[in-house]
Amino acid sequence: MFFASDNAGPVHPKVMESLVKANADYAMPYGSDPIMGTVREQVREVFEAPEAAVYLVATGTAANSIILATQANPWETIFCSRIAHIHEDECGCPEFFTGGAKLTLVDAPDGKMDPDALKVAIEGEETRGVHGPQRGPVSITQATEKGTVYSLSELKTLINIAKSYGQKTHMDGARFTNALVSLGCSAAEMTWGVGIDAVSFGGTKNGLMGVEAVVLFDPDQAWEFELRRKRAAHLFSKHRFLSAQMQAYLTDDLWLELATKANTACARLTRGLKQTPDTKILFEPGANMIFAEWPRAGHQRLHDAGAQYYIYSGALEGDDPDEPLMARLVCDWSATDENIDRFIDLVKG
Ligand SMILES: *Cc1c(COP(=O)(O)O)cnc(C)c1O
Repeated sequence: MFFASDNAGPVHPKVMESLVKANADYAMPYGSDPIMGTVREQVREVFEAPEAAVYLVATGTAANSIILATQANPWETIFCSRIAHIHEDECGCPEFFTGGAKLTLVDAPDGKMDPDALKVAIEGEETRGVHGPQRGPVSITQATEKGTVYSLSELKTLINIAKSYGQKTHMDGARFTNALVSLGCSAAEMTWGVGIDAVSFGGTKNGLMGVEAVVLFDPDQAWEFELRRKRAAHLFSKHRFLSAQMQAYLTDDLWLELATKANTACARLTRGLKQTPDTKILFEPGANMIFAEWPRAGHQRLHDAGAQYYIYSGALEGDDPDEPLMARLVCDWSATDENIDRFIDLVKG
C-alpha cells in the first residue's frame, strides 16, 4: 500500500525493454542518437506542433528551471502559485538558473491560481522603475500540486491575463498526462491552443525511469535553451537512454494508458474514502493525487499494516484517536484494486 508519491512506483516493463534494446548497439552521444530523431517527431505529432523544439532532461526541476531561465531575464520576476513546485520544492533552482530572477507568489487556495490575484500580482510589479523587478513569465502547474486540474477555460483566463501584459507562459506538467486524460482533450488544446509557450512534459511520475521532455513552441528559443541546458550540466552524453524511455512512452499510447490507470486507481480510492465515516476529501480531485482527512486511529491502523503515505497536517503521535489528520495520497500506474480496497478497509477499522 504505497501512496506516498507516483515517482516511487516501478518503471513500466515496456520502458525497461526499450532501454535494453537501446543498449544493443552504439549510438552518437549528446542527443545525436537516432532514437532522439524519432522522439522529436513523436512529441511534435502528439502536440500537433511540427516546428516545436524538443529536448530531454532527467528531472522536472531541470525542465522547469532551464525553460524559465530561457524565458526570464535575471531582472524579471516569475509569477506562480504560492504552493508551486518551482517555489516550494526546487531549492531556489529557477532563481539560480535565471541568474537571480524573483518569484512573485499568487494565491491558489486549491492549487489553481486565482485570476484576480494573478492580475493584481502582475499589476503590482514593474511599478518602481529601475528599482524593482520587471514583469516576467507566468508559470502554471497542470495538474496542480493539490491534485486539482484547471479546465481549458480556466487556463485560457490565466493565460489571457499573462498575454495582455505581454508575458510568456510556462506549464509545469510533471503530471501533464494525468491532467490530459482527466480533461479528455488533446495535448495541443491544453498547451499552445490556450497560449502556453513552453511545457515541462513529465514522464518520471508516469512510468519512466527518469525523463521529462521540454517542448518549446517558439523554435527561436531553441539555441538559447541548448546552451543553458549544457551550462546547467543537464546535457546527457549517453543520451540514447533518455530517448529510449520517451520513445516507449509515446509508442502505442503507453503514456495515456498509464495515466488513465493512475487516475482510475485514484478515483477508486476517492470513492472508497468518501463512503468511510469521518473522512473528508479536500479540494476537487482531478487526477491521481488527493488530500483527505480522517481520524488518527485510522492512520494508526494503516501505519501498523505498513501503508506508506505522507501526513500533511498533524502527527501520527498523539493522544486523541479522533483527531483528524490530513494525508496526501498519490496513485501511480501500478496501484492495484486489492491494495486500494485494503487501504480503505483499514481506514474504516
Ligand atoms: C515532481 C514534480 C516536479 C519534478 O520534480 P523532480 O524531482 O525535479 O523530478 C515538478 N513539478 C511538480 C508539480 C512535481 O510534482
